[in-house]
Amino acid sequence: MSEKIKCLIIGSGPAGYTAAIYASRAGLHPVMYQGGQPGGQLTTTTEVDNFPGYPNGIDGPAMMVDLENQAKRFGTDVRYGMATKVDFSASPKKVWIDDTKEIEADAVIIATGASAKWLGLEGETKFNGLGVSACAVCDGFFYRNQTVAVVGAGDTAAEEASYLANLCTKVHLIVRRGEMRASLIMQERVKNNPKIEIHWNSETEEILGDANGVTGIRIVNNITKAKEEIALTGFFVAIGHQPNTAIFKGTLDMDAQEYLITEKGSTRTSIEGVFACGDVQDTIYRQAVTAAGSGCMAALDAERWLAANNLH
Ligand code: NDP
Repeated sequence: MSEKIKCLIIGSGPAGYTAAIYASRAGLHPVMYQGGQPGGQLTTTTEVDNFPGYPNGIDGPAMMVDLENQAKRFGTDVRYGMATKVDFSASPKKVWIDDTKEIEADAVIIATGASAKWLGLEGETKFNGLGVSACAVCDGFFYRNQTVAVVGAGDTAAEEASYLANLCTKVHLIVRRGEMRASLIMQERVKNNPKIEIHWNSETEEILGDANGVTGIRIVNNITKAKEEIALTGFFVAIGHQPNTAIFKGTLDMDAQEYLITEKGSTRTSIEGVFACGDVQDTIYRQAVTAAGSGCMAALDAERWLAANNLH
């Protein structure tokens, strides 16, 4: 038995909740399915200091509760559940939740976000929020005048290392091959920064720490097999993000990294009535505030599309 609704929002990060606030205020009676990690990536951080409106900062999970309550205040129907299958071939669009429940929606807003990739080390979970982070812009501030490491060799790692070098006394960049994948200009910036030391052909074997958090790492050289311990307090993993788009493969246009493609200046995807906002379509900014902004855009785009198609 399917349930017919006007507007479905998939995902519950800043993009999804902001879309929900706008869509419910516009009378679209949105239903939101929160996904596997209600609140999204911000629930894995501690202090959020860069979201406007919180002069004293706010705990990431607490901020997501605020956003959820704000969306509910205007009537958003917030539900647990994962979208596991879609059929956008006809209108209304069909979305299956947890493989069983079928929703038919006139408009769909996708806000499924992206997930940071991790190395798979035990210390990454043990010290998450206690020295281990996947976001220098979010957490770098806490490591001012300290020594940190960044793992990765792409543009994100180069950017994060440069960003951290402005705050920290020393940044160790751990690169698993003898070269970096980052754009040449970013590589030059990293190589010319006296605060950044690049450890070539090196991988992290273990994150060391105690009850207070990270105290160091042990790296191993892939060629010589030599091991080295580095004392530090912050360990930033910057080996890329994976957009959460598996269920849209073959249905919506994506780029080579599987991010959804939206029309420039809008949140429209390759299918009419399906909109995407937040990190699932953002390869550049990936900030809570930009995600929230694009969530607003998605709700406005959905509302206008529904009205233009006499569905509102
Ligand atoms: P990338 O996929 O480009 O790079 C990931 C890096 O992580 C690679 O260097 C890879 O190493 C390394 N890596 C992957 N797995 C491991 C592992 N297990 N151990 C150690 N290292 C590992 O991801 P990015 O997030 O850097 O960039 C994603 C996209 O976004 C790119 O297209 C990039 O250009 C773009 N971007 C652009 C920016 C800008 O223009 N300002 C800023 C940030 C990103 P290896 O090279 O050996 O495979």
